[in-house]
Amino acid sequence: MDEIEDEVCEWCGMSGYHPGCQAEMADWAEQVRVRLLQFTMGGSFGPDPSGSGMSFGEAVARLEQYLDYVPDFDAEAVIENKRWWYIPHCWIGMLGFVVDKSTGRVYKLGSGLGDLVQALTAYEQGRVPTGGRRDKGA
Ligand SMILES: [Zn+2]
Repeated sequence: MDEIEDEVCEWCGMSGYHPGCQAEMADWAEQVRVRLLQFTMGGSFGPDPSGSGMSFGEAVARLEQYLDYVPDFDAEAVIENKRWWYIPHCWIGMLGFVVDKSTGRVYKLGSGLGDLVQALTAYEQGRVPTGGRRDKGA
């Protein structure tokens, strides 16, 4: 019956369940979502029906070629805009990839860039180098 005491709060890292922390965490997640939506075209995640240029399938194929394997990702977290695709493919230290629609280049977003909003902002500002094929020189 004391299981709740073994629970660790995801927000503050202390043991127990804290309604205040849960509320803060939900607020934060919502803020991130709203900030990420600014990168989309139509205000929603996933491939955009009004999108133009490189198709989603082609962007995924570029990423496959870059990684040399078929990536597993959450299509509902994909971001499409006029210039690029963001494909979430996360592991430790990684936030995902941007595929530039006009050049087909793949850019790796490392967590060293900050959170995803900061990483996409860095990409937009030209601060993310293209690592070339498969991380070389990155
Ligand atoms: Zn807490």
